Amino acid sequence: MGKKKPSPWWNQGIRFECQQSGNCCTSRGEYGYVYLTRKDRENLAEFFKMTTSEFTTKYCARTDGFYHLVENGSPECIYLSEKKCTVYEARPTQCRTWPFWPENMSAKKWSGNIQSLCPGVGKGKLHSAEFIGKQIEKQKKADLE
Ligand code: SF4
Repeated sequence: MGKKKPSPWWNQGIRFECQQSGNCCTSRGEYGYVYLTRKDRENLAEFFKMTTSEFTTKYCARTDGFYHLVENGSPECIYLSEKKCTVYEARPTQCRTWPFWPENMSAKKWSGNIQSLCPGVGKGKLHSAEFIGKQIEKQKKADLE
């Protein structure tokens, strides 16, 4: 019989509600790129009424084989305007799974970097451990694309 996996520290859930700080939409070293899965590019292309290949040529770049939004010299995402996402309905996976990214979920990182970066952490709706687990899995999958 395998050992039972220990419960994560977020076993009782975590409160999070976006406070529209725009911080997670602004490049800070490791949060540098807004990466895009194939589906993300398709959704954004549809949003702009373009083909996926037109969208990709116009708005995407590729680094180490991974697609991401182009940058325009500012640390902010090209779609952030006055702290609001202008493509909200079609925002990419990583914007939907924030802040529950696999690399954010160590207790140390969470209580350090993530809490200080994101004013939504600890506020609003209590997200269950099950929901958080799903977000982590979604993001893990997206990270491979
Ligand atoms: S697409 Fe929208 S939510 Fe995602 S980083 Fe850009 S402005 Fe933020």
